Amino acid sequence: MASLYHRARVMTCAGSGADPLGLITDGAVLCEGGRVVWVGPDEDADAASRALDVVVAERVDLGGRLLTPGLVDCHTHAVFAGDRSDEFAMRARGAGYLEIAKAGGGIAATLGPTRAATDADLERLTVDRLVAARATGTTTAEVKSGYDLTIAGEQRLLRVIARAGAQAGVAVVPTLLCHVIPPERKADRDVYVRELAEVLVPAVAAGGLATAVDIYCDDGAFTRDETATVLGAARGAGLAVKAHAGQFSDQGAAELCAELGALSVDHVEQVSDAGIAALAAAGTVAVMLPGACVQLRLPPPPVARLRAAGVPLAVASDLNPGSSYSSSLPLQMWMATTHFAMSVEEAWLGVTRVAARALGLSDRGMLAPGARADLVAWNAEHPAAIPYQYGANLVDRVLVA
Ligand SMILES: [Zn+2]
Repeated sequence: MASLYHRARVMTCAGSGADPLGLITDGAVLCEGGRVVWVGPDEDADAASRALDVVVAERVDLGGRLLTPGLVDCHTHAVFAGDRSDEFAMRARGAGYLEIAKAGGGIAATLGPTRAATDADLERLTVDRLVAARATGTTTAEVKSGYDLTIAGEQRLLRVIARAGAQAGVAVVPTLLCHVIPPERKADRDVYVRELAEVLVPAVAAGGLATAVDIYCDDGAFTRDETATVLGAARGAGLAVKAHAGQFSDQGAAELCAELGALSVDHVEQVSDAGIAALAAAGTVAVMLPGACVQLRLPPPPVARLRAAGVPLAVASDLNPGSSYSSSLPLQMWMATTHFAMSVEEAWLGVTRVAARALGLSDRGMLAPGARADLVAWNAEHPAAIPYQYGANLVDRVLVA
C-alpha cells in the first residue's frame, strides 16, 4: 500500500549543475513501506505506479506547496539538564567568556545538573527538544553526549539519546563527544585522555552506543595531540570520527581530521588554507554553526574560501544550553544566508543532502527512489521563503519514514 503526495512543488535536493535543488514545479512523490519509490512530474504518477506495480491507497493533495526532504540536523547537544539563561543575560549586557566562566558558567555549569538528573528526566528533556525540532522540519538529528564526561556517565547519555529518539519520532544518530577535560580530572589530564582512548571509546564501539566519535579541539578543550590519540582509537575501533575545531583558534585539527578520513569538522571559524585544502581533498564536510557564531559574536567562518576549494558545507543548529539554544534549522538557514553569505541553495543542501553526508548517511537528505520517506510540506512555494520569512514556522506537515 503506497501513498502519493501530489500537486506539490517538489524539491528533491538531488539535482546538479544549474539546478542543485532539483525542483519539479508540478511534482509528486510516491512512497511505500517507509521509502520513496518514485519522484517525478504529477502527470506521470499514475503510469509510474502501474509500472512499479504499486497500489496507491492514499492520495495527498498538497495544493501547490513546497515539498522537501525532511531536514537533517547533523550537530546537536540535545541531551542535558539545567538552566543557563543567566549566562545569556550576562552575555547580552556584554560579559565575555572569562567573566561568565568566573561566575560559574560554561560547560561546567551543565555538568552538575546533568550528572544529577535521573535517566527519566534526561529522556523527557531530550524528547521535548526533539519534538520541537520535528515541528520545524527536522526528521533526523545527530545528538552528542558530552555533558557528563565520566566513563560510565557518557555511556548513560548515549543510551538516553537512543531511547529519546525512539519516543520523539525523529531518527536519532548518537555520537560520543569528548567535550572538555572535566574539572575533577584537570590534574591528571593525561590519564583521562588515555581512559577515553583505551576504555570509553572501545566500550562505546563494543556496545553499539554510537557510530562516531567527536572531540572538541580548541583552546580550553583538547590539544591536537590529544585529539589524535582519541580519534585514532576511534578509527581503530571501527568508528567514524569528527571534531569541533577552530571555533576560537586553529590547532591544525582540519588537517588531522582530513588525514583520518573524518566525516566532518564543525565550526571552522579559524582554519588555514592548508586545512581547507586538506578538507577538500579528503571530501570532509565543514559544518557551519551560525547560531553559536552569531550568539558568541565571533567572526564568521571563511565560507568563500571553503566554497572556492570545493569543501562541502553543511548547516546545523548546534542546539546546546550555552551558545545556541535552538533546534530550528530554518532559523539557522536564515543566519547562514544572512550572516555567513551562503546562497539559499547552499543553505538548503546544508540542512539536507550535505548534512546527511556529514553523518555518513546516504539514504536521506534527498528525495529519490530508495531514500527514507522523510518529507516536509511547507506553507510556501519557493525554497527562499523558508530563510526569508525567518522566525515564522512555515511547516505544514512532517512525515517520518
Ligand atoms: Zn557543538
